[in-house]
Amino acid sequence: MDYFNYKNGKLFAEDAAVERIVSQVGTPVYIYSKATFKNHLQKIQQAYNMLEPVICYSVKACGNINILKFMAKAGSGFDIVSGGELYRVLQAGADPSKIAYAGVGKTDAEIIEALKADVGYFNIESEAELENLIRLAKQTGKMTKAALRVNPDVDPKTHTYTTTGKKETKFGVDIERAQKIFSDYGKNEAVKLCAIHIHLGSAGHTVEPYVEAIEKVLALIEQLRSDGFTIEAIDVGGGYGADYTTEASPTAADYAAAIVPLLKNRNLKLILEPGASIAANAGILVTQVLYLKKGGEKKFVIVDAGMNDLIRPPLYGAFHFIWPVKVNEKFVPSRRDKDLQLDGTVVVDVVGPICEAADFFAKDRALPPTKRGRLISIFTAGAYCSTMSSNYNARRRAAEVLVDGDKFSVIRKRETYEDLTALEK
Ligand SMILES: *Cc1c(COP(=O)(O)O)cnc(C)c1O
Repeated sequence: MDYFNYKNGKLFAEDAAVERIVSQVGTPVYIYSKATFKNHLQKIQQAYNMLEPVICYSVKACGNINILKFMAKAGSGFDIVSGGELYRVLQAGADPSKIAYAGVGKTDAEIIEALKADVGYFNIESEAELENLIRLAKQTGKMTKAALRVNPDVDPKTHTYTTTGKKETKFGVDIERAQKIFSDYGKNEAVKLCAIHIHLGSAGHTVEPYVEAIEKVLALIEQLRSDGFTIEAIDVGGGYGADYTTEASPTAADYAAAIVPLLKNRNLKLILEPGASIAANAGILVTQVLYLKKGGEKKFVIVDAGMNDLIRPPLYGAFHFIWPVKVNEKFVPSRRDKDLQLDGTVVVDVVGPICEAADFFAKDRALPPTKRGRLISIFTAGAYCSTMSSNYNARRRAAEVLVDGDKFSVIRKRETYEDLTALEK
């Protein structure tokens, strides 16, 4: 599933020992595996091969330009949600026709930049936005294509904050409104409304919500076509499960086995926007133990990474498997799991140095005994971790390292104190 494995009790990223990387780059540090990114992309490409899909990797999951560069070379398109992400993917050499631009609050400046860049599709989230896009397309003389984002009103049964395909979200429009929007704007010349987009939200762990949603959307597409509108593509979004615990999620092949039969022979181009399912287990965050501490019944392991580096546990209640970088043979983990309890482990909270009670990575977690100076790996930290990091508490953002075989390179330097005040002078 990824290329982070223990060899003789030592954690490796591909063929590079994590200890060796840390000795040169320090902690906290994000370490990414190029092979894992490429392998996930390739598996998706293969799984949907017969539909010749356009895979638009979701930049907000992990958007380091060096990662975007090799993803573009490997044939990936990009799902973007801001002018900043557009800038990133263009710098990385993206094929503009394989860019899908989503987001409920695109500014005029961002829209104009994307029109000038000739992005493949604007994913439209409201009538007001579509009207504005039409106005700006006419003004700039740049015609474009758009996909209407609809809410199929299915529940992927994930965290409320990551559920985006139900009726009560700020995203997209209700499926019942779609027909009205097509009758108002579906024949517009400046903006060709010719695709339907859905995105159910992140971290669903079953295939059924996709099947249910796609069936609803296909019925809509048939209706629209019989009303005389041209629908050339369906964008089924992202949100495919990633293995935060070992083999917890359907594979790309599992999703495709359910989705491909629904879409074949329909004369529809397929677009997918995977983020976490490509990036999540392609990265780890390595941190050093600063102190051990007792508080009442609790034992704390205080580490040098904080919620400014990785906020998913307090933000979403997300689980990240955590384990020391170097362990005795008996502590080599057989799988990454909340309930992995080996003889001799100690139940601890793993917390950061930030002045917030929410600054934790794990609570009541059984870990092998550790001590000051030891390295600890927070796994499945490739998606929505470094991209969500901040400078809170005037902490410098962590370095990022990309591993390729036994080689590694720093793809984002650790910030300096000067960086912290540079824009304030
Ligand atoms: C965030 C997002 C994605 C990617 O979601 P994952 O859960 O990372 O796969 C895809 N499409 C849109 C519109 C998004 O906002």
